[in-house]
Amino acid sequence: MAATSATTASGNSAPKYFEIPFFASVNENFNKAAVLLDHPKGLLDQIRVCNSVYYMQFPVRIKGEIQVISAWRAEHSHHKLPCKGGIRYSENVNQDEVIALSALMTYKCAVVNVPFGGGKGGIKINPKNYSEEELERITRRYTVELIHKNFIGPAVDVPAPDYGTGAREMAWIADTYQTFVGKEIDALGCVTGKPIPLGGVHGRTEATGRGLFFGVREALNDAELMKKINMSVGMEGKTVIVQGFGNVGYHAAKFLQEGGATIIGIIEWDGAVVSANGIDVEALDAHRKTTGSITNFHGATTVKQGNSVLEYECDILVPSALESQITKFNAPNIKAKIIAEGANGPVVASAEDILLEKGILIIPDMYLNAGGVVVSYFEWLKNISHVRFGRMDKRFEEGGNFRLVSLVERMTGQSLTPEEKNMLIRGADEEDLVNSGLEDSMITAYHEIMAIWRTRPNVKDMRTAAFISAIDKIAHSYFQMGIFP
Ligand code: GLU
Repeated sequence: MAATSATTASGNSAPKYFEIPFFASVNENFNKAAVLLDHPKGLLDQIRVCNSVYYMQFPVRIKGEIQVISAWRAEHSHHKLPCKGGIRYSENVNQDEVIALSALMTYKCAVVNVPFGGGKGGIKINPKNYSEEELERITRRYTVELIHKNFIGPAVDVPAPDYGTGAREMAWIADTYQTFVGKEIDALGCVTGKPIPLGGVHGRTEATGRGLFFGVREALNDAELMKKINMSVGMEGKTVIVQGFGNVGYHAAKFLQEGGATIIGIIEWDGAVVSANGIDVEALDAHRKTTGSITNFHGATTVKQGNSVLEYECDILVPSALESQITKFNAPNIKAKIIAEGANGPVVASAEDILLEKGILIIPDMYLNAGGVVVSYFEWLKNISHVRFGRMDKRFEEGGNFRLVSLVERMTGQSLTPEEKNMLIRGADEEDLVNSGLEDSMITAYHEIMAIWRTRPNVKDMRTAAFISAIDKIAHSYFQMGIFP
């Protein structure tokens, strides 16, 4: 039965559409993996719980009146530092959600071998109701609260963009931190997702969508897996429906389309657009920029009840909006063969069994949307090493390539065209290195997860395999600390 006013451990009421509170749903999935492992119960309990959460309320002057703003920062795990995870601005933010999302960050970082603990922050506002100046005031005040309670810092806890925030908010956070903390040499590493001139890294904005593309591509090229779900190998011509056309959904759709997939539906909060012939993602983005909505796009049919499109026939469904979108109520109607989780927690735990029974492959969030935090890790490395990737070796690499090409030309007596020469000689710049590091992280993690799924007969699905991968790595850190002998 749907719990309409479930109360979480933290005392918060869960929103009505949740079947169970979000953190409980994450833990239900955790427990499915934990029972298959031999780790001591106390260790599993320690990994599962949220280490600390800071709930704050602070006044901000808005249009001449004082408004009291509620906000949180949760640090789920300190097994590695700093903690890492985004900050979301949404009217629906609550403590349970922030804790659940911080837990997912812990597992996500472990799955893709990013040496951080999990964190997440949230401010309970609808950013659309505030002017830019008011948002800046709220963000700066929130940052000061975090500084005072030691919930931010390059070695402590490093926020990033999430739902409702972006590079602009990260710039305000970085500037406030630098102003207050003063002489800290690594201060810019206090937050990631910053604009490039403020210490950001090339490729961070697209990172989550690009990482999702790499993960889906890896699965589609896995002949054994494709056979299991009765699908042909490869991305070419696969039909895709994407829920959410924000930073994650837009980039995921764009990269999947460039990779040969056909985007047949895009769902937003105010409606969806569908076209069996495929939707031009760039043209839809341009339409949204001029009209403020994806609806009434000339190249597709508008569906007013946007979320009904989740139930349309397609090869791959990419929920990349918010959590709890696929519940036990709509799970029986889902017709996709693959659910590729771009959002955090889009499939509620109770819907999972229904989907798995239907033979649907769920590529889990903690793996598939980890591209953002992977590139955040690169940004943090850039900030604490104070040097742009490629600065030391680009020219050196080009020199070596040039000598090699000249030697080949001399030995063969043939000349390459200037274009061919440029292609072979060019050294890697920051964006090349970031994208290559992201690709490697996603491919490595995929094969780690699949090795668990393939070699342990009691592991029935990819999420459980990903949880095992994460739990084992976190357990290993605790063993190394000597806390659990
Ligand atoms: N908010 C993103 C996530 O949920 C990014 C986190 C980060 O870069 O720290 O993965």
